[in-house]
Amino acid sequence: MQVLKFGGTSVGSAENMRKVASIISDVNGIKIVVLSAMSGTTNSLVKISDFIKNDKRDRAFHEIDFLKLKYQAEVEELFYTEESLEKVNILLNYYFNSLVSKVQESYSSDLEKEVLAVGELLSTNIFQLFLEQEGFSSKLISALSFMKIDNQGKPDMEYISKSLTKILKKNQEEIIVTQGFICVNEAGKIDNLQRGGSDYTASLIGAAIQADQIQIFTDIDGMHNNDPRYVEDTFSVEEISFEEAAELAYFGAKILHPQSILPAKEYNIPVLVKNTFDPSSKGTLIHNSKTPDNKIRAIAAKDGITAIKIKSYRMLMAYGFLKKVFEVFEQHQTSIDMITTSEVAVSLTIDDDSRLNKIVQDLEGICNIEVENELSIICVAGDLSQNKSGITAEIFNCLKDIPIRMISYGGSNYNLSFLVKSKHKKNALNLLNHGLFNVNKKREIQVKAI
Ligand code: ASP
Repeated sequence: MQVLKFGGTSVGSAENMRKVASIISDVNGIKIVVLSAMSGTTNSLVKISDFIKNDKRDRAFHEIDFLKLKYQAEVEELFYTEESLEKVNILLNYYFNSLVSKVQESYSSDLEKEVLAVGELLSTNIFQLFLEQEGFSSKLISALSFMKIDNQGKPDMEYISKSLTKILKKNQEEIIVTQGFICVNEAGKIDNLQRGGSDYTASLIGAAIQADQIQIFTDIDGMHNNDPRYVEDTFSVEEISFEEAAELAYFGAKILHPQSILPAKEYNIPVLVKNTFDPSSKGTLIHNSKTPDNKIRAIAAKDGITAIKIKSYRMLMAYGFLKKVFEVFEQHQTSIDMITTSEVAVSLTIDDDSRLNKIVQDLEGICNIEVENELSIICVAGDLSQNKSGITAEIFNCLKDIPIRMISYGGSNYNLSFLVKSKHKKNALNLLNHGLFNVNKKREIQVKAI
């Protein structure tokens, strides 16, 4: 069995929904199709819920009208039989009336979650009606009947697996359509898996039913070897391990959030990321088996980094110093990304500087500090096992004209990261692309094993 997930853009218009149906019909066997809300819808629903919260009900009604018009235009384009047009209009009226009545209720976080759920409920209902109109053997199954989180907000795998297996046994249809993102909580109320949670839904379903593969359809050709916004000759990476993908995700090469593919990784289900708008392109396969050796897979960068240099002649040699430093960050709920130490100084980076002033104040009590911002971390991910030689030389050879502020290597076998001033980022990415992936020369670095 396959799980196919389509994101907001993929189901964002009548035209795109037709493309999705054609992709699905080319996949053999039974498939579970997980859909996001149509693009822009969840953002609109967030606005509506904020208007309710802030008692701006008129603005909430206005947003609902605006959203309804958009849906009416799309369904008029998608449906042509009288029967399906009637069904889809009943459906739209039902969900938009339910939104109108929620605006009249008083705000609570339960109400907010009910409002947010409407996006995925609409897209899946519309899409399944469309499949019905086109004569596909399909069935809509509500994610609320099997996707459950516990009181910590964690998916209840046992419940999900049992309920889904039971439901699937009863259904013989070839295409099962369900909602991404939404779920029920311990109290049996509507909840969700956080924004962007539809990939997580697909991964949980894939794990729960031990699917052959999870295919995530998005609007790009899988993962690129470098950032196409700054580098011209990028290409899509055909294969990558879960570890390498997770390293890259933090750096913005985030085709998938690492947490969202964790269940697939744990249950050993390969994830194929494909492009809805170019389904013949291979996409990127993410899996647990070791990817072929000796390859740099990809490069990515993250901006908006602040470095904090902490110096203490008095305390660094003494044990407990780093603990004191880390406690400051813990207290201000700020996570540290990169860290390097010497005998007299520690440099570390953070990407969330919202509590920087307080952190600085507290650190000044225990050491001297220097803060630098407008920095970028560049990450080179691939097979960077530390029992090989030559790879770091290859990387830094590309960067001989770029001033480097910090280097982090050896934390895992898959990542070498370094920090540069953001103004050097584009140049560094291009130099690495040319040096490590020179398309004409070779796409892979051959690293000699010792
Ligand atoms: N519709 C939800 C969102 O926009 C979930 C998703 O699309 O993954 O966050």
